[in-house]
Amino acid sequence: NRTFFVGGNFKLNGSKKLITEIVERLNNADLPSDVEVVIAPPAPYLALAVSLNKSKQVSVAGQNTYVKASGAYTGENSVEFLKDVGAKWVILGHSERRSYFHEDSELIAEKTKFAIDSGVKVILCVGELLEERKAGITLSVVEKQLDPVFAKVPKEKWASDIVVAYEPVWAIGTGLAATPDDAEETQLAIRKYIATKIGEAEAQKVRILYGGSANGKNATSFKDKKDVDGFLVGGASLKPEFIDIIKSRQ
Ligand code: 13P
Repeated sequence: NRTFFVGGNFKLNGSKKLITEIVERLNNADLPSDVEVVIAPPAPYLALAVSLNKSKQVSVAGQNTYVKASGAYTGENSVEFLKDVGAKWVILGHSERRSYFHEDSELIAEKTKFAIDSGVKVILCVGELLEERKAGITLSVVEKQLDPVFAKVPKEKWASDIVVAYEPVWAIGTGLAATPDDAEETQLAIRKYIATKIGEAEAQKVRILYGGSANGKNATSFKDKKDVDGFLVGGASLKPEFIDIIKSRQ
């Protein structure tokens, strides 16, 4: 009974025109009542997305925030700005932030704690590189990414304020999604690890998403995977098929 969750990470893509088209498509779609949709446009378009949105199932997320609310931190984004414009979530720990912007798991944990303490929920991304999968160390890589967050975010906050997105780096933007069986195997193992940290009952409430080349065609094939509680979608979230992903559990 974890609510199906679909996130749309627009990454560094958008324009007033594109954001308007995407939100109006969501407004006009007959979305299932029992789905939670979170769209993450680039920061300059957050307020536009919030103001256009008419669906109660849809909310808006930032793609990054900092560990300070305000001050002399040129170029950074604040959770306070997100709240001010009506965004409820932020994506943290994305592999693109980890690799291109050198964010380590310690900083990501600090950002996660800061966001949650400020009242912004977090889509926390984890996932292994292809070499790490080949070396058979997927789970230990993900555990190390999660550990600093367990150290900072209290147990009782996980289910309510964190959604974990398992995004194997080799599947992101490649068109080669993990198979439903592989995603389930890893995500079940992630849930078991979370249970060792926050307890079985709380771990059962934490949503774990799959991300990496999810699209309108393959989304339904994950339908019966009980530890795949939704998707974090990149490229396909910019297109009409995003609606098909949102409806893939019907
Ligand atoms: P793609 O869906 O484009 O592979 O991107 C996945 C992703 O990184 C979502 O955060």
